[in-house]
Amino acid sequence: MDWTVGTKRLDISRGDWVRSAASRLAEIRVESPRLSAELLLAFALGVSRSQLLIHPDVVLTPDEIEIAEGLLARRARHEPVAYILGFKEFRNLSLRVTPAVLIPRPETEEIPDLASSLQPSARRILDAGTGSGCIALSLVELYPEARILGCDVSGEALGVSVANDARRRVGWVCSNWLEAFAEHSLDLVVSNPPYLTDEEMDSLDPQIALHEPAGALRGGVDGLDAYRTLLPQAYRCLSPGGQVLVEGSPTVAAGVVALLGEAGFVGTQIHRDLAGKERFLSGRRPSERSPGVIR
Ligand code: GLN
Repeated sequence: MDWTVGTKRLDISRGDWVRSAASRLAEIRVESPRLSAELLLAFALGVSRSQLLIHPDVVLTPDEIEIAEGLLARRARHEPVAYILGFKEFRNLSLRVTPAVLIPRPETEEIPDLASSLQPSARRILDAGTGSGCIALSLVELYPEARILGCDVSGEALGVSVANDARRRVGWVCSNWLEAFAEHSLDLVVSNPPYLTDEEMDSLDPQIALHEPAGALRGGVDGLDAYRTLLPQAYRCLSPGGQVLVEGSPTVAAGVVALLGEAGFVGTQIHRDLAGKERFLSGRRPSERSPGVIR
């Protein structure tokens, strides 16, 4: 953007820049143009978004404008704001994110509390397909006495999750779903696996389609590919009475319920998210005293 008129440089305030940037993003249909512009300018200036908004009349220096314009050019190519800033807030955590991991979604923030209400006494817990490590790291707070593990098939993703665990409170394992885990070695398995159908993949917003890892999103023709591998493995690795809790969507919910039953889980439940959508599915490995009794 050229901010000069003839040879005279105009004074550009923070508010002016945000308005201009937001309208340029809106024109090319970038998602959340105004919020994006505010977050990028705040980041360029090293201030919080609220500080930016309370002082909109402060005039920007040429250097500040150059930095902000550089970030804006990335956003104009639909790069998600979280990848540009390099972090995303998740519950009370500020997590590093790179294009090797899915950007944590708000609905996923509900998994840790749901897990602890389903299986409050778990001692050995796995977050399968951990990505940024968001679920595993949140579980650390809720289960101070438990051993928390996170696995991912992608070494690059594990690099991000390890970086997010400065205090080394989670055990990070490279594993294709639960292949690396032993029978009866866990009390709770949680996962946000890829679950988008091919049709849903074809209609994704460009900021997801162009930048987020397809391997963390693509669930095959019916969206169920990952669950077909994950659920029987989770059953094998859970001790009797252990719980599995997975994220899904209204599209895959009925299919996941069927797969939970096929894998041997009982007490299957569908849990709605805060938006009222069928989002989470859980089941229990029957305890040995009541084999196969479905309640
Ligand atoms: N909820 C994500 C989305 O809408 C999908 C996450 C997933 O496949 N696990 O993009």
